[in-house]
Amino acid sequence: MATLVSINPASGEPVGSIEAALPADIGHVVARARAAQPAWGALSIDERAACLRAAIPALKAAAARIGELVTLEMGKPAPEGKGEANYAADGLAEEVDEIVAALRPQELRDEHTLTTLHHDPYGVCAAITPWNFPILMPQQSVLPALVAGNTVVLKPSEETPLCAQAWAECLQAHLPPDVLQVVHGAGDVGRALVRADVDLIVFTGSRATGVRIMQDAAEGLKRVILELGGKDPLVVLDDADLDAAAAFAVRNSFRNAGQVCVSTERIYVHRAVAQPFVDKVLERTKALVQGPGTQPGVTVGPMVNERQKQKVLEQVAAARAAGARVLAGGTDAPGNFVPPTVLVGVDHAMDIMREETFGPVACIMEYGDDDEAVRLANDSPYGLGAAVFGGDLERAQRVARRLSAGMVGINRGCGGAQGTPWVGARQSGYGFHSGPAGHRQFAQLRANSRPAK
Ligand code: ADP
Repeated sequence: MATLVSINPASGEPVGSIEAALPADIGHVVARARAAQPAWGALSIDERAACLRAAIPALKAAAARIGELVTLEMGKPAPEGKGEANYAADGLAEEVDEIVAALRPQELRDEHTLTTLHHDPYGVCAAITPWNFPILMPQQSVLPALVAGNTVVLKPSEETPLCAQAWAECLQAHLPPDVLQVVHGAGDVGRALVRADVDLIVFTGSRATGVRIMQDAAEGLKRVILELGGKDPLVVLDDADLDAAAAFAVRNSFRNAGQVCVSTERIYVHRAVAQPFVDKVLERTKALVQGPGTQPGVTVGPMVNERQKQKVLEQVAAARAAGARVLAGGTDAPGNFVPPTVLVGVDHAMDIMREETFGPVACIMEYGDDDEAVRLANDSPYGLGAAVFGGDLERAQRVARRLSAGMVGINRGCGGAQGTPWVGARQSGYGFHSGPAGHRQFAQLRANSRPAK
């Protein structure tokens, strides 16, 4: 065992520490999960769901403290940290209901045959989660895995171990031993978990780590669900409501200091409305308040760590050197802070328009017609989310249908109605989660058939 110290990115001070695993410990943890699985899998789906619902009062009671830990460990503004913890607790019942409904057996019948489709557990699930939504990501990974009858070993991000631990303990109190275990540590512990005797790996994180996980999973043909990064475009058509488009651009570029997989990372605005749109973006950017997430009124916190900060600054510096103009931010700030930055004069030769930034940077590029907007928006190996803003909904819809993203929002963000999967196209994902179609990916489908009469 080792010790993992969690650092507050706003102050550099420790938040606390927790016992971490060594890669060599993981085999034993997974063996316990394996031993606990048959009994857990033998419960009915309603019994398993009941165990999870029983945790709701504890999650609600702990939400304020968990939210505070989220802010301290990764920096997001306090209302957003608490909001995340509350959203997770308040949404758990509905989420579990949706999972149960998705995993109930389904019947197919024709003249000769009655077939039942069963959604059975895979066995042991490894859930490896990031720090940017350190409660919601574990929840989205762990709930469907458990309801499906798998046992779970969760490895939360090494940046946010304490809030994830506090969240998991609320569930563990209502689960049989070893059904949900948590191991802490960095990538080496995650890697050991992927290589251990697990059947399903559910991962949310960077594309690079997703590739490594898939390689490690390949030998055992382990199932993987990989939710990876994005380089989400926003297309602003010439008939768009520019106030709404600018409000969305600023909110979605700078929310969580840009550390969101569906952040707006590229903005394409029609030439005819570029100037007023840029002016509105700048006005709204100037109204943002940056500081420690614990400070009242702060809307943009720090980068999660120094490495992330340097990555963002390097991309901005390289874009600048290649001719981009900085209209806001772009300066260095103390600690892990990167001021909300607006760039124009960008092009696709620049890294900042191709590689995921994961920071508070809005890059605005002009285009001439719908075809060009579509071509630019699709000029990326990623395909997670996208947004189109336009006055004529039919036209905006036509543009949206031509975008290669998994989730496209028109005059709004990419999140859909209840039941919508969280799905990335191209290199933004492999498998997907959420919504009935996503929940079913956590279960082995088995078809049992018999004569119809
Ligand atoms: P970031 O660098 O922004 O934290 P990652 O995608 O590297 O993004 O991390 C997401 C999660 O994946 C974290 O919990 C991290 O510890 C874990 N991780 C990192 N490398 C590996 C790996 N090779 N195998 C399994 N998990 C890993």
